Amino acid sequence: MADQAELARPESRDTVRAVNPATDQPGKSYETTSREEAAAAAKAAHSAFRDWRGTSFADRSAVIHKAAAILRSRHDEFARLMTEEMGKTLDEGRAEVEKCAVHCDWFADHAADYLARQPVDIGGPEAFVTFNPLGVVLAVMPWNFPFWQVFRFAAPALMAGNGALLKHASNVPGCALAIEEVLHQAGVPRDLFRTLLLPSSEVEGLIKDENIAAVTLTGSVAAGKSVAMAAGSVLKKCVLELGGSDAYLVLEDVDVEAAAKVAATARMVNGGQSCIAGKRFIVVRSVLDAFEQAVVEEMRGYEMGDPTQKGTKLGPMQSVKARDEIHRQVTDSVRAGARLLLGGHVPERQGAWYPATVLTDVRAGQPAHDEEVFGPVAAIIAAEDEAHAIRIANASEFGLGSGVLTRDVDRGRRIASEELEAGLCFVNENVRSDPRMPFGGVKHSGFGRECADYGIREFVNIKSVHVRPLEDAAHNRVE
Ligand code: NAP
Repeated sequence: MADQAELARPESRDTVRAVNPATDQPGKSYETTSREEAAAAAKAAHSAFRDWRGTSFADRSAVIHKAAAILRSRHDEFARLMTEEMGKTLDEGRAEVEKCAVHCDWFADHAADYLARQPVDIGGPEAFVTFNPLGVVLAVMPWNFPFWQVFRFAAPALMAGNGALLKHASNVPGCALAIEEVLHQAGVPRDLFRTLLLPSSEVEGLIKDENIAAVTLTGSVAAGKSVAMAAGSVLKKCVLELGGSDAYLVLEDVDVEAAAKVAATARMVNGGQSCIAGKRFIVVRSVLDAFEQAVVEEMRGYEMGDPTQKGTKLGPMQSVKARDEIHRQVTDSVRAGARLLLGGHVPERQGAWYPATVLTDVRAGQPAHDEEVFGPVAAIIAAEDEAHAIRIANASEFGLGSGVLTRDVDRGRRIASEELEAGLCFVNENVRSDPRMPFGGVKHSGFGRECADYGIREFVNIKSVHVRPLEDAAHNRVE
């Protein structure tokens, strides 16, 4: 099996380095992977896959359980790495590492059942469905949950018998390499899972490499389109987990204080930098004033602070560039008629800081209404009634998460299950992912699913097998 050291090494190479968003100071630099090394890694991964696919579920399960144990034993170290590279608070980082461990354990315990041969009664000869691994999957991942996004894909993919190459976001190289180390320490064969420190311009070429079977991307709509076009051009499977502008309906029967708590929690997860954060709060007019006041009070509680300190609820954003973009969205929205109820000003301090912000009078034509706002900004949109609120929620290019806040659980269940155009819907709860439930979107939020049985079956060949004794062959039907 090829080793990175055996692969062609260019004489001089580029480097990539993370920048601490709390201070804007550069961190450690890492050598990038060359195109030739990436191609060699794909070849080696394909070769390793041929062995791995023949291992038993029990063997793979032991490896993935071990990965969970390593994650737990090093959770402080990994949380600190995330804080240094993308600004997540240490508290949220520890929780993220634990979530990865739970996810690994879940798929280590359940992959065999999810992928068990399924007999089908077709009223005659034997028929069943098998789920065979596809090969090496290229995973293009974002920085916002640097560990979770990767393990969300990798644990089920490896349990299914696939190999994987990771191209992580360029601002989290240390996390990307740490994840590779965890999997290798756990017993994942070295060539079967590799981290490649590649620029995004190299992704298209790698998708077209003959040793890559499929690709999964979690990221922006623009990156999704580019990956889908490359995969489509060579007819390879792709799964896309893209952006969201999740709508929460706040209905007139709501307990305003309780609703505001859910709203603020849903908005402020990961400093507002979550694809499934609640972003648009569509409020029936009779409770609008009360909700505005209550949500401002809740959002005020998310004070900016040192992300390394216990209890800090809002750290910096991931980069100064991202902060400047969100401030542009806020100021352009205000210029177009939105009203600031809280925050909305860039503080005078080094780093990517932006305060918890609430905008009201948000309507079509404003960035806070029309675009994904990827930071700590809640947008309040007025609606006349339930039907109007549903129309506003669905008049979005996105369809990832969504929510309904109401005292009437039957009403909430109906709206969630039948009315909202989104891949996930929560009644009186904040948005989140769960290994036991399928995760993904519709419209420009992408296609395909992660987690649960649906997720693990994305990168398998769902094969129909029909078996009958040769002496019965005369009974074959032609249709
Ligand atoms: P991004 O720019 O699309 O980056 C995500 C990944 O894609 C990175 O590894 C990036 O590499 C790569 N990439 C960027 N442009 C590419 C291209 N043209 N071709 C191939 N790869 C490309 O996304 P982001 O802005 O950092 O992340 C935030 C976005 O991700 C938001 O829209 C958020 O909603 C979405 N997201 C979705 C989910 C979900 O599960 N649906 C979860 C988390 C985040 P470089 O870093 O090297 O550019």
